[in-house]
Order: sequence, then structure tokens, then C-alpha cells
Amino acid sequence: MLKKKIRVTVWNEFRHEKSDAAVKKIYPDGIHAVIAAHLNKQEGIIAGTAVLDQPEHGLTRETLTGTDVLTWWGHIAHSEVSDEIVNRVQERVLEGMGLIILHSGHHSKIFKRLMGTTCNLRWREANEKERLWNVEPGHPVTDGLGDYFELPHEEMYGERFDIPNPDKLVFISWFEGGEVFRSGCCYERGHGRIFYFQPGHETYPIYYDTNVMQVITNAVRWAAPRIIKKIETPNSPPIENLPSPA
Ligand code: ZN
Repeated sequence: MLKKKIRVTVWNEFRHEKSDAAVKKIYPDGIHAVIAAHLNKQEGIIAGTAVLDQPEHGLTRETLTGTDVLTWWGHIAHSEVSDEIVNRVQERVLEGMGLIILHSGHHSKIFKRLMGTTCNLRWREANEKERLWNVEPGHPVTDGLGDYFELPHEEMYGERFDIPNPDKLVFISWFEGGEVFRSGCCYERGHGRIFYFQPGHETYPIYYDTNVMQVITNAVRWAAPRIIKKIETPNSPPIENLPSPA
């Protein structure tokens, strides 16, 4: 029997690529185009894209209903994402859709909503090396990765990262300047799975890195819904005969 493909929507704010020549050079068609092109080469995955400036930010009810896993990159325009769409994405995650939050998406409305904390962190842009340690080699998200991998240049994100304790922490990063960071965090909310993954500063070609894309591909497979079900808690008649009240 043919297994159904995992339907991914790669969402991007898509602003830096238009306004910043250095970013445009790395991602002429946007970060979303590079991520979606990679995912579309993977067996069992089909990826489309959506961006902030589309009507309803490209996340209509129809699109979300047809999305198994949503990936999210945003940075300078988090506040422009409408609360109505945030509500809609949250509802869909609770019903079972997977959500992968990339890099500066840590401050997106949807991630903060689902975490319930500030999601603040320490940061610095200084072209430094990052070493990502794989602390859960048996986890589906780290499948095929070694003990660690490195990115020659990344923005430093450091602790304390104000998130709830992850259900499973799969990567811890070290930065050349001395900080550490919980860079791969798995959560469940309702029926949905959420993965936060730190790499992806827009001025470095991070989404061309083989290891980074392996992690994102693995995360898509891990976060794919096992069930899509509305969260309902009805008033219920008893299953057994209850004694009459005295
Ligand atoms: Zn950044």
C-alpha cells in the first residue's frame, strides 16, 4: 500500500531577502524556497511555501487543513502576524499538526503562545563557530547525525533561553565566544509535536548545510501527525449505572 506523503508548508516572513542585499545574495528566492526545494527532494515529503505578505499570511484554513507539518522562520516582523492566524495555527497544532520553529522564530507569537514564556535569550552577531552536540543519538530527529557537527559561522544564541523544560532536548550548542545553548528542543502540545531548532541566521548560508537540512528533514518526519483530532471535552453520561443519590 502506498504511504501518504507528509505535506509540509514552509512559512517565511520573507523581508530580509528583499531589503538586505547580502541576504538576497544567499537566498535570492527567499529562505523558504531553499528549505522547500530540499524537502521536495526527500522521499515521502511534499513541501509548499507561504509568506507573511500573502493574504492571511498564506495560512488559510484550507492550507492549514492540508498541512501536516508547518515550518516557521521569522525575525523582524513578528508583530505583523495577526492574532487571528496565530489562533488558527495554535488550534491546528493542538489538533495534531507538527510545527518546526527555526532560529529567530523563538520570538514569534506562535512559539511564545505555545510555550507560555518570554522565549528570550542571550545573543551576539560575531561570525563565530558553533558546535552542536547530539545528546540524543537514538532520537528520530538526530537520525544519521554524528556525535556533533559544526557551523563555521553563526549568530550566537546563549542561555538562559527562557523556555519551559523541553520534553526532550536533542542538541546542545557551544559557541566560540564561550556560551552554551539548548539548540534542539522537542515538545508536545495537545496532539501536536513541536521542534525548536536554533541554526538559521539570515546572513549565513545555514540552510544549505547538509547536517542542518538532515535535522530539519528528520524533524518533519518526527513531527508528522499521528492523529488529527479536535480537542473536545464534553459533558459525559456515565458508562456504568450509578447509584441514585440518597
Ligand atoms: Zn539571527
